Amino acid sequence: MNETDPAREEDAQRERALIDEIRGFARASRALEPKSKARKRLRRATTDATERFIEGLDTLRAYQATEDRAIGLLDVPIGEAGIGIARALELLEEQVVRPGANTASGGHLAYIPGSSVYHAALGDFFAAITNKYAGIFFSAPGAVRMENMLLRWTADLVGYPAEAGGSLASGGSIANLTAICTARDAHGLKGADYAGACVYLTSQAHHCIDKALRIAGMGEARLRYVPMDDRHRMRPDALAAMVAEDRRAGLRPWLVIASAGTTDTGAVDPLDEIADVAHGEGCWYHVDAAYGGYFLLTGHGQYAMRGIERSDSTVLDPHKSLFLPYGTGVVLVRERAKLAAAHAYEATYMQDAVRDATEVSPADLSPELTKHFRALRMWLPLIVEGTAPFAAALEEKLRLAVYFRDRVRALGFTVGPEPDLSIVTYRWEPAGASLEEANASNRAILEGALRDGRVFLSSTMIDGRYTLRMVALSFRTHRKQIDTALEVLAEQVAALG
Ligand SMILES: *Cc1c(COP(=O)(O)O)cnc(C)c1O
Repeated sequence: MNETDPAREEDAQRERALIDEIRGFARASRALEPKSKARKRLRRATTDATERFIEGLDTLRAYQATEDRAIGLLDVPIGEAGIGIARALELLEEQVVRPGANTASGGHLAYIPGSSVYHAALGDFFAAITNKYAGIFFSAPGAVRMENMLLRWTADLVGYPAEAGGSLASGGSIANLTAICTARDAHGLKGADYAGACVYLTSQAHHCIDKALRIAGMGEARLRYVPMDDRHRMRPDALAAMVAEDRRAGLRPWLVIASAGTTDTGAVDPLDEIADVAHGEGCWYHVDAAYGGYFLLTGHGQYAMRGIERSDSTVLDPHKSLFLPYGTGVVLVRERAKLAAAHAYEATYMQDAVRDATEVSPADLSPELTKHFRALRMWLPLIVEGTAPFAAALEEKLRLAVYFRDRVRALGFTVGPEPDLSIVTYRWEPAGASLEEANASNRAILEGALRDGRVFLSSTMIDGRYTLRMVALSFRTHRKQIDTALEVLAEQVAALG
């Protein structure tokens, strides 16, 4: 070869320039891989902030109304140059952590409170650092075994057989959607069948069921609202009558949806009796236990939810009754093959991801392919501390609900039925007040409590009555927070004059 071949020389020059450029860009992107000392600095700054938060929880308001509602966050746009960790954390504390509901507070007694145990945060940290590809067994056998093991543990709590399968989803809504798509395909329903397909549920079922049916393309399906007893629980006799009538009318009874803990009042439908009707009529039987599910760790919960083991599918939200961070829902299907039939896929670019029958891959059982390694946030707290403290915290919540109900009644409130789980409904009903006046008083009590902010409460409408709710579900909610709630309520009643 000729050393001074001009064409060769040009190629070599071009490559030197290319290598210079690569080096330059690598240098400019170095911030993406901080060295040990820099990592320590970032970590320290962050954990200092999270420590400030946790240590301050006792004095932070459970609800912080602000005028600006975090608009200041937008004053600092994303730009080419970064602002550094100190300023970023300052923004985070001021604009994100402070305003709105402080959902980490034990004083969070509104809606369905979530709470997130510390170990789960460390699990998330580890999951993000290793970024294991948790969708496929071939890629991350340990992560997949972990997810399947947690699903199996939950299936055992529910009482499902060995053939059961499931998916660790992002929450109850997606979990319910997954179950509904499975039920649709398991019954071989096609577009032409939808308008005649009947779904049985109560008006207390969560709205995500409605939403899931629409997303599943089944917006035309007929929703049959089954009458309830005086405790807002589905009446199995009424269900049986409705199914029989629809069948006589030539319609297709398809899906029965019971709730194990409704969002409004925490009512648990009579799951065992409903199973008799659903199965007797050849319907798919789904139980939405998004709120109540992990109360199965308690004896009372097992009793209240007896019959759940006879369902075809069920949903439990670890980000509710298992104290895990938001973004954690479980769907279980009694026959894994049916879940797989609705979700398995093939693609040429996946051809190297060998299918290994040892463990089923999450990607074959859910709409997700790439997924957050969320099993780790669930596994770490459970494996480190065991289930006993979780069960104890849930037992405590059940008793706090009873305690609150007794005390709030002693304050003069009219209370709803004895709670099936940990939700108490109550209402201020002064003698001689009209429905409208009583509604206005209860609204005033709630608004006053929100302004006070020491605890966070919410309300609902039950049969046209503005009704107050208290939900004990955070692991940080103890008797102290319940006493504070009672104090706030007493003050608000006094303020009514
Ligand atoms: C919270 C809840 C849902 C919805 O779950 P997300 O996790 O919020 O998506 C569904 N059903 C019931 C009974 C619930 O309490």
